[in-house]
Amino acid sequence: MNAAMLRIDGAYGEGGGQILRTALALSVLLGTPFRIERIRHARSKPGLMHQHLMAVQAAQRICRGEVQGGALGSQQLVFTPGDVLPGEYRFDIGTAGSTTLVLQTILPPLLSAPGPTLLVLEGGTHNPHAPPADFLEHAFLPLINRMGPAVSMRLVRPGFYPAGGGVLEIEIQPARRPQPLYLEERGEFLDLHARALLSRLPDHIAARELGIIGRAFDLHAAQLETVQVVDAKGPGNAVMVAVRSRHVTEVFTGIGRRGVPAETVAGGVVDAVRRYLASGAPVGEHLADQLLLPLAMAGAGAFVSLPPTRHTTTNIAVIGRFLDMAIDCEALADGNWRIAVA
Ligand code: ATP
Repeated sequence: MNAAMLRIDGAYGEGGGQILRTALALSVLLGTPFRIERIRHARSKPGLMHQHLMAVQAAQRICRGEVQGGALGSQQLVFTPGDVLPGEYRFDIGTAGSTTLVLQTILPPLLSAPGPTLLVLEGGTHNPHAPPADFLEHAFLPLINRMGPAVSMRLVRPGFYPAGGGVLEIEIQPARRPQPLYLEERGEFLDLHARALLSRLPDHIAARELGIIGRAFDLHAAQLETVQVVDAKGPGNAVMVAVRSRHVTEVFTGIGRRGVPAETVAGGVVDAVRRYLASGAPVGEHLADQLLLPLAMAGAGAFVSLPPTRHTTTNIAVIGRFLDMAIDCEALADGNWRIAVA
């Protein structure tokens, strides 16, 4: 724990919560203390919100680390990690804040921990601007498992904004060091599947969403699924399309919001799926920024994706502060990008 303290600027690039999460994940993984200033500077309400504070506390708990400045609204923080302690943990955000973003923070160090971990996370499971549970289960975790660890996830109960109360259970069997992942081709297209989740809202919302998606991609009834959630704490709606290809599954999501017509929610998903299908790339925009850290942990790997977002370029910069490795982004002739860790 004698490593020099890194200084991270939370206002850099995208300027959101991901800078903090990536810094926490790498800090715990590598035993590197850091100070972060201007946390979420580019957001209208900067500083730590419940979800970010829970990410800090979760990172602290899994390594018995030390935190200065870990309070709601705080715009700076000093984090000094200890050794990673696998085991059983339960983290309750207490609001509809995203459970999957808390997982994004603590999963990397637990993937190479000295033993297995069982996590129970409570809060939101289907939030705007965060990976929905379905994306983790069908897109992200299968790729992590291909790298050596064995991570399984169970959505015990969905949680939507504003009531929250969702529960995710995650079991992690670590690997000493993740193996490199090369995902440069999507492979043969296999199928599309659309799923609408509804809690305490009229059936016609899911019917309209699935109608739009079904017509756009000429899907038959077996590819369109409505799930009536009976035990969620409050109302909510999410619609997801999984695109399954030989080498990768991608998941595209729309989250229903009061005042936004079901047609608009589903239309956004249709546009994202069309763009992905037309690109031929295996990795979509969100998966791209989330694969960087596992690839960096492996020390090698590459994927082809849609053009990098600011989340991706910012994440590359934060990783570069902690790890002395090159992550190259190369524009390809077909408009896609190859992102490689070496
Ligand atoms: P803020 O920036 O307000 O602090 P935040 O902490 O919630 O917000 P961001 O920094 O915006 O988070 O990061 C959001 C993360 O969620 C990114 O890793 C992004 O790829 C991922 N994400 C967002 N939407 C989706 C989606 N539909 N599917 C999968 N992943 C998503």
